[in-house]
Amino acid sequence: METEKLTFETWEESKRQQLDLQWKDFMDVIKWAYRTYEDRIAYACSFGAEGMVLIDLISKIKPEAKVIFLDTGLHFPETYSLIEKVKKKYPMLELIMAKPAKTLNQQAAELGENLWERNPNLCCHIRKIEPLQQQLQDVDAWISGLRREQSTSRSNVNYVNKDEKFGKIKICPLIHWTWEDVWNYIKLNQLPYNELHDHDYPSIGCAKCTVPVQSDNDFRAGRWTNFSKKECGLHQA
Ligand code: SF4
Repeated sequence: METEKLTFETWEESKRQQLDLQWKDFMDVIKWAYRTYEDRIAYACSFGAEGMVLIDLISKIKPEAKVIFLDTGLHFPETYSLIEKVKKKYPMLELIMAKPAKTLNQQAAELGENLWERNPNLCCHIRKIEPLQQQLQDVDAWISGLRREQSTSRSNVNYVNKDEKFGKIKICPLIHWTWEDVWNYIKLNQLPYNELHDHDYPSIGCAKCTVPVQSDNDFRAGRWTNFSKKECGLHQA
């Protein structure tokens, strides 16, 4: 038994709850997502550890799935190197390197050098949020690797969410996965991963705004350490 397709416009909380009751696990969610939204769904991947798990799971269901990487131009070389490995391992994926409208030079000329040091919200808006908005224009739903244990603001995320920020449906198949689950899957399946994870970077974003963390800190403690900011703005708190 399947409920009708949920869209941002037809969202009803009761329909979401009905879907929840039908699913046994994350794989049911991924299968439902691609069956329901067909080509009108994309996975926005940051190529962190969860990203490698989701790429592997999604490629089993939809080998030619659309995967969006928000290429701010400021990522670690290790991240770009991982993307090359992923392209070789999953050649059918439609990998989109979404770039901001402004180059780094244009951003510096218009808004000053090193905007991330003065106004990271504006920098993230230009280099991440606007490019994702652009990419999501032609889809009804997007997939994200959010997990509930990652932070307080993510602890209430559901498998299917009404995403007010982008006016889409946001699907999060890994909400119940622990960090240990993620790494067990990566090791068991011998997946490539960002080597910075071996150097105390649990969460990896732009090189300008990510530092290593001690193991007793939370997952995202190494992001924007000079600011109270803990999210780039893609996900509502
Ligand atoms: S994470 Fe930092 S460098 Fe990257 S877009 Fe946001 S503020 Fe700019």
